[in-house]
Amino acid sequence: MKRGIPKPTVQIALSDHEQSIEKFLSKTGTFKHDDLLVNKDGLRIVSHSKQGEVQLIRPLDNNLALDDMDMVKVVGNGSAGIVQLVRHKWTGQFFALKVMQMNIQENARKQIAQELKINLSSHSLYVVLCYQCFYDNGAISIVLEYMDGGSLSDFLKKVVMIPERYLAAICRQVLKGLIFLHHEKHIIHRDLKPSNILINHRGEVKISDFGVSAILASSSELRDTMTGTYKYMPPERISESKHGYISDIWSFGLVMLECGTGKFAYPPVDSYYDILEAVVENPPPFAPPDQFSKEFCSFISACLQKKPEDRQSAQLLLQHPFLTKHDVSKIDLASYFTNAAPPLATFNDNK
Ligand code: ADP
Repeated sequence: MKRGIPKPTVQIALSDHEQSIEKFLSKTGTFKHDDLLVNKDGLRIVSHSKQGEVQLIRPLDNNLALDDMDMVKVVGNGSAGIVQLVRHKWTGQFFALKVMQMNIQENARKQIAQELKINLSSHSLYVVLCYQCFYDNGAISIVLEYMDGGSLSDFLKKVVMIPERYLAAICRQVLKGLIFLHHEKHIIHRDLKPSNILINHRGEVKISDFGVSAILASSSELRDTMTGTYKYMPPERISESKHGYISDIWSFGLVMLECGTGKFAYPPVDSYYDILEAVVENPPPFAPPDQFSKEFCSFISACLQKKPEDRQSAQLLLQHPFLTKHDVSKIDLASYFTNAAPPLATFNDNK
């Protein structure tokens, strides 16, 4: 997909925009939090004068309006809502539109607004681009870069398990995404799982959905439908409600082990309480040494340490022998993704 849509624009003079500010603020259904406004027309950042008057509004991307998106098909059904492939009427560009109902507590809404602001300002090759978001009729819609291979969760359903050398190439990209989030944006993903790692026919692997799902999951109404999120939570978050950057490494280790073995690392249980108990009480899962290389086993063990201080950072993991022993330039993820699980939902299918 080409990246033709311009990046967020800078602030504009008040005089030119007095009327549009009035119009924007008067829209019914505007969701406000601090300097953020989200409504049917998108997300705006507002500045206030000392007297508290609205001085200017920075649009993030005026070229995208919800009404200009034609629905092509539903591509995913997440725990908080559906994901649709949509096409921009005027440019023909494809996007993924994630729609989440917002009948949740005020506090969670505020956090979501903050997370959306971070999402919109995150530009990395290893993170799914977020172009704009809208709030209308009680639903938040997020316009995302469309990843035509779907998620690792979709891919695993087709291939069952991923051979080590491809896994090494996938790990490298996910770790680069984590390094970007942890070191450049200073944010914790909090919800890394197979459905939040997306792939495309170019062999790209990108992290999606940081923050927002985790907040929704902690809202009591959605808790029961979001057990997916709990399965990948690190022990320290469950037992002490504590989490740092290194918490993402636990989730990452579980995801990679699942990709290698073809099944979730803990045995199936009945409720999310049982999952939490198993994570806190049981010894950490590991890669069986009779099925995997010693490098992969050691890599998984560097991630799946119950004490956060014993886990390796994303930066250190990037130097791990499991990754350095494979020559990435010879690993053709693009062909692997395309040949292993045809047909991908490529743009051509939808013309
Ligand atoms: P969850 O709620 O489990 O985190 P999501 O709602 O984020 O899951 O995504 C559900 C599914 O929607 C994914 O497994 C994937 O198939 C699809 N999907 C999500 N985002 C995109 C995207 N940007 N491009 C293509 N497909 C996507």
